[in-house]
Amino acid sequence: MRLIVFGPPGAGKGTQAKLLSNHYGIPHISTGDIIREEIKHDTALGVRVRSYVERGDLVPDEEVIEIVRRRILLENCSRGFILDGFPRTIIQAKALDHILNSRGLKIDAVINLIVNEEELIRRLSSRRICRICGATYHLIFNPPRKDLKCNICGGELYHRSDDMEEAIRRRVRVYNTETKPLIKYYEEKKLIIDVNGNGDINSVFSEILRKLGG
Ligand code: ADP
Ligand code: ADP
Ligand code: ZN
Repeated sequence: MRLIVFGPPGAGKGTQAKLLSNHYGIPHISTGDIIREEIKHDTALGVRVRSYVERGDLVPDEEVIEIVRRRILLENCSRGFILDGFPRTIIQAKALDHILNSRGLKIDAVINLIVNEEELIRRLSSRRICRICGATYHLIFNPPRKDLKCNICGGELYHRSDDMEEAIRRRVRVYNTETKPLIKYYEEKKLIIDVNGNGDINSVFSEILRKLGG
């Protein structure tokens, strides 16, 4: 099964993609997580893309397309994968189609998480990430069991620099202009599954599974 989890910043893509990854036993591929790791380790790629991410802009298409190409061709993706945060532009979507088509593969569905804008801001401004394993929490909706420590690895939780008000506003704008047009692109391919993402984490997950047919 090859799925795309789609939606604006803060919609719950990462949260739902992790649950789907466990449910189906296929890898979760988050371009945002991969890029943050590169930045954290000051790799050549990380150094090239850092300023885009901090501002809330998209990283150039060539960079992310290359990341995804390498990742989805790995052996552990042979039974499928869950893409989270990719594609984000029409150029990326076409590149993905090309990579898959040339191997006789295709995307099975695009889960479109629909969440109202006030809720997005509420989710992003209190999102916290584990510095060690990258797990995601929310101070109110999905708090860690112990004060600002990761449930999984005990790592310290931090506030992403692009989850500050100015960068959040920019990311929502970028979503509306660059990324939202992809809905039409995938609607034409009859791949879009609309999901109301406003409910709590478990009810959103149940709706996704129901619409995917288990
Ligand atoms: P969000 O939680 O807002 O959906 P992500 O963690 O997916 O954010 O992405 C964080 C940042 O990483 C983006 O604002 C962008 O700078 C960069 N990024 C991630 N995926 C892509 C992509 N597919 N194309 C371009 N930039 C990306
Ligand atoms: P995205 O990857 O789309 O940017 P995340 O999965 O990182 O979104 O979720 C954004 C924030 O909202 C996180 O702090 C997460 O814990 C929280 N969150 C995710 N889904 C829900 C939900 N259904 N209800 C309330 N909070 C949620
Ligand atoms: Zn952790």
